[in-house]
Amino acid sequence: MHKNLKKGTPMATIITDECINCGVCEPECPNEAIDDGEGEGLDYFYIDPELCTECVGFHGEEACQEVCPVDCCIPDEDIVETEEELLERAKKLHPEDTFPALDDLTNKTSLFRNPDRKNANL
Ligand code: SF4
Ligand code: SF4
Repeated sequence: MHKNLKKGTPMATIITDECINCGVCEPECPNEAIDDGEGEGLDYFYIDPELCTECVGFHGEEACQEVCPVDCCIPDEDIVETEEELLERAKKLHPEDTFPALDDLTNKTSLFRNPDRKNANL
């Protein structure tokens, strides 16, 4: 896996080194959390953990993983974040938007409630 650029901060979804740099995921992220690394002189895509909500509040699974042709957007196995923490991050990142209450999240707005997502067994 690529090293995270901001070690020590919580991580949600991570892009592994199986990435083929196709760029398909970048525009799909509701939080603009995916970066191609060019600005930092890197030659690989990475996810900013401070911007990733695992798509909670927006989609029923990780939008990046949903479109990734090699399924290399996977949950970080070391740091697990709760649905509540991720929803709160979404609210902070999008103060102008309205989000469902935690109890009202569904399989369309939270991967925690979607057993059919690609990463369900990871
Ligand atoms: S899981 Fe969702 S929020 Fe996180 S990087 Fe992927 S598309 Fe963006
Ligand atoms: S869609 Fe997958 S393979 Fe393509 S850039 Fe994103 S993480 Fe890499």
